[in-house]
Amino acid sequence: MLWIRNLIAVLVWAGLATLSRPITGNFSWAVFSFGLGLLLFWHLWQLSRVIRWTRDLQRPPPPSAGLWDEALARIYRHLRNQERQLSLLEGNVQGFLAAAQALPDGLVTLDQEFHIDWCNRIARQHLGLRLPADRGQSLLNLVRSPEFVNYARQDDWPAPVLLRSPGGGERLLMAQLISYNKHQRMLLTRDVTQIEKLETTRRDFVANVSHELRTPLTVLSGFLETLRDMPAEALSEDQREQYLKLMHDQAQRMQAIVADLLTLSTLESSPTTDPQPVNMPALIETALSQARALSSGRHEFSSEIDATLDILGTGTEISSAISNLLVNAVRYTPEGGHITVTWGREADGSARYAVKDTGIGIAAHHLPRLTERFYRVDRGRSRESGGTGLGLAITKHIAMRHEAELDIASELGQGSTFMLRFPESRVVAERALSS
Ligand code: ADP
Repeated sequence: MLWIRNLIAVLVWAGLATLSRPITGNFSWAVFSFGLGLLLFWHLWQLSRVIRWTRDLQRPPPPSAGLWDEALARIYRHLRNQERQLSLLEGNVQGFLAAAQALPDGLVTLDQEFHIDWCNRIARQHLGLRLPADRGQSLLNLVRSPEFVNYARQDDWPAPVLLRSPGGGERLLMAQLISYNKHQRMLLTRDVTQIEKLETTRRDFVANVSHELRTPLTVLSGFLETLRDMPAEALSEDQREQYLKLMHDQAQRMQAIVADLLTLSTLESSPTTDPQPVNMPALIETALSQARALSSGRHEFSSEIDATLDILGTGTEISSAISNLLVNAVRYTPEGGHITVTWGREADGSARYAVKDTGIGIAAHHLPRLTERFYRVDRGRSRESGGTGLGLAITKHIAMRHEAELDIASELGQGSTFMLRFPESRVVAERALSS
C-alpha cells in the first residue's frame, strides 16, 4: 500500500535523524524537519500541477509518482468511463429523436399543464408550431380550436378528436392525447384529409347511384301500377304498346347504369393483367363501325389510322375506352356534324388516339369535373341519348391502368377533342403489315 510506503519513508527518515544525533547533536531535529519540509514541498508542487490539469480534464493527467500517480490514474479512468457512457446515452437519445422525427404522424411531448417540451417535423406542419420559440408555451394557447380545447380539458382521452389544421390549408387532423407517465403527455396528430375525402366521395357515390336508379324505378313502377289497376279495356292497343316501350326504356337505362357500375368496380378491384400486344387499328375500326351504326347516317366520319401501330395492354379495356369516346362524339354532335378519328405516333414517341367532333362543345369550367362519376354538363341531354354519366369515369380509369393520359380540349359550341396518350413504353415495335 502506497500510504504505508510513505509512512515508512517518514519513519526511516526519523530513524536516520535519531541515529545521526551523535554527529549532528541538536541539529538532528532540523535534519528531520528539513526532510519533512522537502516532502511537503513535493506534495504541494504535485497538487498545483493537478489543479492546473483540472482546467482541461480532456488532457491526460501530468506525470507524477507515488500516491499522486495512483490517484490521478483512477480519476482519469473514471472520467473516461463517464465520457464513454455519456456518449452512449447521447447516441441513444439521438436515435430516439431521429425515430420520432421519422414518424409519419405528428408528435408533441407536453408536461401536465400542456406546456410544449418537444415536437417533430410533422407536428410543426400540422399545428404550425415553431421550436425553440414555442418550447414552454401552452399548447392550448397555440391550438385554440374549441373542439380541441374541450377535448384536452377532459380527464382522460380514450378516443381521438377531429380538428382543422391550425397550420393552414384545408387539412383535417385526427388528434389523440396520451398520458405516458404521471407528469408527461404526448399529442399524436394524423392527416386524415384524404380519408375524409374518400369517405365523402363514397357517401356521394351511394347517394348518386340511389338517385340515378330511383327515377327509372319510379317511372317503371308507376306504369306497372297503371297496367295492374286499369281494366284491360280502358287502354287501347297503341297505349299499351307505348307504355310497354317506355317501361322497356327505363329497364334498359337501369341495366346500362348497373353494367357501367360493375365495369367500374371490376376496374377498381381487379389487378392489372399482364400487358399483351393489342391490335389497335382493328379495335378502332370495330368501334368506328359501331359508331356509324349508332349515328345512322346523321354524321360524317373520317379517320387517319396508323395501321402498323399497336400498344401493350388489355384488349377489352382499351376497346371499351376507345368506343366510349366515339359514342360520346356521336351523342353530343348534332346531325350533319363531322367526327374524325386519328391514331398515330407523336414526335416524343408516345401513341395518341384522338376523337374530334364538331358538336356542342363543353364550357371550360366543366372540363376538370367531366371524369367524375355521374357528372354531366346537361343531365337531360345525357339521359335522352342513353348516357349513364359513367363513360368518361370508366375511360379515365382504363387510361390510368395503362399509364395513359386522358386529355380533353373543348370550346362551347365549337366541338371537342378527346385524346388518349399512351407512353412510349407501351408502344409495340411497329407491326409489319401482313398484306
Ligand atoms: P354520359 O353517359 O352522360 O355521356 P360521360 O361520362 O361519357 O357520361 O360524359 C360525361 C359528360 O361529358 C356528358 O354528360 C357530357 O355532358 C360531356 N361530354 C362527353 N363527351 C362529350 C362530347 N364529345 N361533346 C360534348 N360533351 C361531351
